[in-house]
Amino acid sequence: MLKRIDLGRNYRNHKSEYLKAIEEVCEETAFSGGKYADRFQEEFAAYIGTAAASAVDNGTSALQLAMLALGIGEGDEVIVPANTYIATAWGPTYTGATPVFADCTPDTWQIDPTDVERRITKKTKAIIGVHLYGQPFDFHAIREIADRYGLYVVEDCAQSHGARYKGLMTGSLGDLGCFSFYPGKNLYAFGEGGCVTSNHQPYIDAIHIFKNQGCEVRYYHDVVGYNMRMEGIQGAVLSVSLKYLDEWTRRRQELSWRYLREITNPLFGMQAHPEDTEPVFHLFVATVPEPEDFLAYMEAKGIECNRHYPVPCHLQKAYAHLGYQKGDCPHAEYLAEHCVTLPMFPEMTDQEAALVIEACNEYQTGKH
Ligand SMILES: *Cc1c(COP(=O)(O)O)cnc(C)c1O
Repeated sequence: MLKRIDLGRNYRNHKSEYLKAIEEVCEETAFSGGKYADRFQEEFAAYIGTAAASAVDNGTSALQLAMLALGIGEGDEVIVPANTYIATAWGPTYTGATPVFADCTPDTWQIDPTDVERRITKKTKAIIGVHLYGQPFDFHAIREIADRYGLYVVEDCAQSHGARYKGLMTGSLGDLGCFSFYPGKNLYAFGEGGCVTSNHQPYIDAIHIFKNQGCEVRYYHDVVGYNMRMEGIQGAVLSVSLKYLDEWTRRRQELSWRYLREITNPLFGMQAHPEDTEPVFHLFVATVPEPEDFLAYMEAKGIECNRHYPVPCHLQKAYAHLGYQKGDCPHAEYLAEHCVTLPMFPEMTDQEAALVIEACNEYQTGKH
């Protein structure tokens, strides 16, 4: 069985280096926050090219902390895409703000600037754009709208480590960038992890305090804080992996461009990748007429596929109280109904990619 993603291959490739890094943390007992989390956040800020970064416990916290740093809370609205992982919407929700869902474009599948502008009200404070599947959204179009209405722009970079928009690194474009290092993301911890990046030092200073129980000085709590520090072991593991990220990205790109060139079956719909962007293919998502039929077909061929994401955010039960209806975000709904995710991870071999391509090209709908 070819897995959709196989993390074990990377662990085995670099096992001694990872174990040495973990051992070092244990010897120093720098378990929560501390030296290794701090070292990683500096390395990550340098990699993304921002003035500062704050290492945190996961990507969902990164989004919540970004909202807190901007002073967003009860009574505020934050526009987020309907086509994303639900955690994008949790960030504003946790602070008491209301997420307002915008549709995506039918070609790039990213947040649609025209639909965003339609949903702005007097209460809107920020727009969170998501570089979904590692494909940068049209940042300049979103920034232009935000500037006209005096809104913040936050990037959800949980799927876009190392992706570029017009030559610029995602995570360095908006007021704040939010990263996840959940296992399976392009850069991942051996557990949970996240980071917030920004060129505006005061935001990062505020996040350092919020994530650390509201303290700048221990036992003196200036604000209501949270326990959202990164663990030392995760920082040490991430410092090892960061050195390999560009190499892993190149391999994802090689495999994905091959899928795009060689999957020629007209049943497949593919995401558009505008020329001025450099996607990093966190997930390789396509559309087919009958996703469940396709998944059964691929499984019979020994190829595991899955779906990202079968229900768009605005139609999730958790947000039923907001009153969205089917038809409110038609492009996001189309994707939810038709998306399938093909195997994609840097350690996939050329032969495995060829198997996936052949199976896709031989696929006929409605028979499985
Ligand atoms: C993974 C992910 C998150 C949440 O990150 P966690 O580390 O799992 O909390 C947020 N947004 C998007 C788009 C994601 O893919």
